[in-house]
Amino acid sequence: MALLIDDSCINCDMCEPECPNSAITMGEEIYEIDPLLCTECVGHYDKPTCISVCPIDCIAIDPNHKESQNELQMKYTAIMELT
Ligand code: SF4
Ligand code: SF4
Repeated sequence: MALLIDDSCINCDMCEPECPNSAITMGEEIYEIDPLLCTECVGHYDKPTCISVCPIDCIAIDPNHKESQNELQMKYTAIMELT
């Protein structure tokens, strides 16, 4: 699954530079995660690093973008081939 930032985000800038896939960008009001780029950190870390650094726990699983571990691994491979 990709992850989702909820609207309690305080725009603290902690998560954006930590994302290994550059999936986090500033949206119109708060930071947003691109579900096409978020691998839940599969391929890079054991757990989602954005969740680890967020001081207010406003990042969670996006129920609209459910993916298996295998699908996340394939997404990681595809992203690496593009970069
Ligand atoms: Fe980026 Fe990892 Fe957070 Fe997804 S889980 S947005 S890949 S830091
Ligand atoms: Fe928002 Fe959390 Fe990212 Fe800070 S770390 S910008 S509060 S999502």
